[in-house]
Amino acid sequence: MTRPVIALPHAVGVVIETLERAGHTAWVVGGCVRDSLCGVTPHDWDLTTSARPDAMQKLFPKVRLTGVQHGTVTVIQDDMALEVTTYRGEGAYTDGRRPDTVCFLSRVEEDLARRDFTINAMAYHPMRGLCDPFGGREDLQAGLLRAVGDPDQRFTEDALRILRGVRFVAKTGFTIEPHTVYAMYRQMQRLVHIASERVFAELCTILTSRYTGRALRQYRAVLAVVLPELAPMFGLCQHNPHHCYDVWEHTVRTVEAIPAQPVLRWAMLLHDSGKPHTYTIDEAGVGHFYGHPKVSAELAHQILMRLHAPNALRTQVETLVEFHDHGIGQEERQVRRALAKHGEAVVRQLLAVKKADYTGQNTFPVHLQELQHTERLVNGICAQAPCLTLQTLAVDGYTMQELGLSGVSIGEGLRWLLTQVVEGQVPNEPEALRACASEWKESRDEG
Ligand code: ATP
Ligand code: MG
Repeated sequence: MTRPVIALPHAVGVVIETLERAGHTAWVVGGCVRDSLCGVTPHDWDLTTSARPDAMQKLFPKVRLTGVQHGTVTVIQDDMALEVTTYRGEGAYTDGRRPDTVCFLSRVEEDLARRDFTINAMAYHPMRGLCDPFGGREDLQAGLLRAVGDPDQRFTEDALRILRGVRFVAKTGFTIEPHTVYAMYRQMQRLVHIASERVFAELCTILTSRYTGRALRQYRAVLAVVLPELAPMFGLCQHNPHHCYDVWEHTVRTVEAIPAQPVLRWAMLLHDSGKPHTYTIDEAGVGHFYGHPKVSAELAHQILMRLHAPNALRTQVETLVEFHDHGIGQEERQVRRALAKHGEAVVRQLLAVKKADYTGQNTFPVHLQELQHTERLVNGICAQAPCLTLQTLAVDGYTMQELGLSGVSIGEGLRWLLTQVVEGQVPNEPEALRACASEWKESRDEG
């Protein structure tokens, strides 16, 4: 193989030179080397060095002490934040999460040995070239993900590496080398001990990558360790003319069909999770899943709470899952109602969810045409800046007081007026609304 040349940003070169002039050695390492070798622009540059954190603090004027006990400082050079970590090895892992101790080492090869996969265990130096003791470059060219050293031991030390493996499959479409795969399966139960925030972060990347579908299909058993609610969907035949795939294959297709945003991807992953719990079969042999969206939304709530997902993401996913099966409607009045209930942003997300759902069913293209019609209605209504909320109603609580209403009936009256406006029964104009409110008050007083 030819000697690779990686173009380093100026700031990175300066940091390496500064460290080496002071008698240390330094390299770029990990993800940035991997990405550069396959023509991808790295999103950050990490360095590894024989210098200890105290020496680095003396050498660089701007340093942030990000993880000194693990040997990491962040050097600010030409407005770039560069993580520089002392060559280190890791002591025993008693909890399967983090090493009990780290020890500083003097050779880069020893540092590379603690890294997870061979493609991530390469270092590069502008003069000395590539340091690749585990054959990472060859694996990169072959599209192989291989654990550094004994895979069982590596996954026992830190089970998160198993999920990182699935993440790299989702990002690169690589194949996991057989010994590494078997060890993943042998050790995957250890994932239950990993901090939920770290699991959630990996799952978000797995769900929003280029080869997400491949990762979900091939490594569903690994994912089911952290998301056991998925397992009952695997292979569940739907016995329904609307579905030609089992619930899991349908789910994966819907995930692939929707834009790669975390909220939308999570919504598709979980939208049918309630199906196994609501499955019935009628006399004609047709399968039904009555009430499954509600059950799916409850499962989404439990799962995302357990994973400590941000509240905003969780509540959005719950709404999309709960309403994924509700029609938005083919008539202007129905669409206005949906817009008043959910707001424009959610209605647009629901349109995307429904489009993905129909695409993943792959049975009745007419539904997709209906959705296009609904979308045109949404566009038309939203372009007119319609009144769909109490804030934009042309009368307020004071008007209701002037009409002789008080207490809770003010709110009741306003909400009734809003319904009339949304339904197109009355224009959103003060005089018309006053007249309408008076009628409502009279009929209420009589009742
Ligand atoms: P990304 O492009 O997503 O940042 P990355 O490989 O750079 O991918 P990081 O989490 O930034 O991933 O980690 C940087 C490097 O640290 C990795 O390339 C790998 O060498 C090493 N590393 C990270 N996490 C682990 C781990 N759990 N076990 C062993 N090595 C790890
Ligand atoms: Mg990185």
